[in-house]
This record gives sequence, structure tokens and C-alpha cells, in this order.
Amino acid sequence: MTRAADTTNRAVARACPVTVLGLGAMGSAIARSFLDRGHPTTVWNRTAAKADALADAGATAVPTAADAVAASPLVVVALLDGTAVEQVMTSVGTAITGRTLVNVTSGSPSQARANERWAREHGAAGYIDGNIMGHPPCMGTQNILLTFSGSGSSFAAHEGTLRELGTVTYHGEDPGAAAVEFLAQVATSYELLIGYLHTLRLLRAEGADLAGFTDRFGASLAGYPALLTSMVRAVESGKYGPDLGSLDVQAALMDDLIGHRESLGVESVRMREVKKLMDRRIADGHGHQGFSGLFELLAPQGEA
Ligand code: NAP
Repeated sequence: MTRAADTTNRAVARACPVTVLGLGAMGSAIARSFLDRGHPTTVWNRTAAKADALADAGATAVPTAADAVAASPLVVVALLDGTAVEQVMTSVGTAITGRTLVNVTSGSPSQARANERWAREHGAAGYIDGNIMGHPPCMGTQNILLTFSGSGSSFAAHEGTLRELGTVTYHGEDPGAAAVEFLAQVATSYELLIGYLHTLRLLRAEGADLAGFTDRFGASLAGYPALLTSMVRAVESGKYGPDLGSLDVQAALMDDLIGHRESLGVESVRMREVKKLMDRRIADGHGHQGFSGLFELLAPQGEA
């Protein structure tokens, strides 16, 4: 046996058998990634034909989710939504006993905690909740981000296998914590990107160069980590320095931003919302503070 073949064989011998439930775009990419790294891989999908290509590539396709779960100590679930997870896991029942369940179906923190209770009550070795940011073709590269939380001992036992899928962060024992992180990351992106789309509308109305602006804005994002760090420090300490300048000065600029948008018939609702918050903060005597002080006005009703 050549040295290279021997090394490959030992890697395969070490690779933990895995099961993947759900072979949509994401589940198929996960199963393919495990196969590529030499894991004995068992797959199941509601529509059985979706397992064919993976079976051709070496996966074992089985007729029921319970059969698939029985085949491996590590079970990865990638289904459409929480309802699908509930239905499939109900069909699995106590076959989960002794298995580690890793659910990477996007969901809420409360769904994750309910799944953990279900797994515990059915004798699972552990429950890990996961959420994925990135495109299925990037699975198995560092360009896909996976957040995990839940059983620390299960995560430690399977960390090596899970890290093969992409860039992994572990958020602690609370099974809901990965979903909290995921929803926060996704929400921040949407807030940023809707502002970007509004701005493209404005630029188009002005006949400006959209691509050139995008390049310059993209380059300016390099300055954001330092700004965000100073803002989170202000929020955590409650001491709001004049970040981005004082609110007194920023509020005047907001009038220009809103006026510019309205003069072109471009939506200005979000800018008006920001201006309203600034005005309230100034009226409360905080005009010398910065933008981060608006945090004080964003508390849910009844909360300080
Ligand atoms: P998808 O391609 O639409 O696949 C959905 C999967 O769920 C299929 O295997 C489907 O089975 C199965 N399914 C749906 N309802 C079911 C039910 N009631 N019982 C059993 N199986 C059911 O979705 P996906 O892109 O793989 O997404 C899977 C998860 O990854 C989602 O939570 C998604 O948010 C997350 N995610 C996806 C992406 C992405 O770009 N695709 C990126 C990040 C995160 P059938 O084949 O039988 O219909």
C-alpha cells in the first residue's frame, strides 16, 4: 500500500458515520460534503428520488427517517422549517435514543429549546441546534458560517466533524443561543441592505453611477468594526459620547437627507423614523450625545 493511500484509509477509518435527514439544496450539500471527507453517510428524504445522486456517489439511501437515524451516532437534520422537523422527528420517535441530533434547519430560539426537550425525552445522547449562513455550493468551505449551541459534551465529541462543514462558532449550552445569534446576524444584514437599496433608488433618480458608489461604499465598510466596537461599549456602559458627531448637528443633516429624498420622490420613511428618535433624544436634553444614545429609545414598551 502506498503511503498516500494509507493516510487516506486512516482518515476514512476515523471519519464518524453520519446520517442526513432532508436532501433539499442544503441537506444534499451537507451529505455531499460528508461523503467527500470519507464519512460513511446514510441519507433519507421524503421524496426518495432526491437521494439518487448521493447514492450514486456512495451514500446509503434508506426508506424511512427512523432507519436513517438508526444507522449513525450523528444525525444532521436539514429540512424546510420547524413544522417539517416536528413531523419527521415524530416519525423517528425513540430511534433517536443514544444518537446526537444536530438540527441545522433555520428556526427560532423557542423552537430550538422545544427540540432539545423532545430529544432529551426520547433518550438522545445530546441535542445541538445549528443555523447556516451561506450558499449550499459553499458547503465544506470556510465561506459558509454555521452557528451551534446546545449540549457542550456532544459538541465536543463531534466538533471535528461539524468543523468540516465550514466556519463554526459555538454559543454555549442554551440550545436557543445559536438561533439568537443567527436571527441577529440576519436581521442586521437586512437592515443594512434595505438602506442600501433605498440609496440605490436615490442614486438612480439622480442619474449617478450606482456601481461606482457601491465600490466606494464597500470600501468604507472597513471602518465599521471600530465604530461598532465604540457603539457597543457606549450601549453597555450607558455613557454616550458624540459618535458620528453630536445629535444636535446630526439632526440638521437628517433634514437634508430627508429633503433630498422627498425632492426626488424617493421613500424616506426610515430616515424620518431616525430623525424622530433624534428629536426625542434632543428634547430629553441629550443633544450633546451621539447616535448610539438612540438605543435608550428602542426598549420594548414598559422596559427601561
Ligand atoms: P429546500 O431545498 O426547499 O429543501 C427542503 C427540504 O425539506 C426537502 O428535503 C423537503 O423534502 C423537506 N421537507 C419539507 N417539508 C417536509 C415535511 N413536511 N416532511 C418531510 N420533509 C419535508 O430547502 P433548503 O435550501 O435545503 O433549506 C433547508 C434549511 O437550510 C432551511 O431551514 C433553510 O432556511 C436553511 N438554509 C438554506 C440556505 C439556502 O441557500 N438554500 C441557506 C442558509 C440556510 P422534499 O424533497 O420531499 O420536498
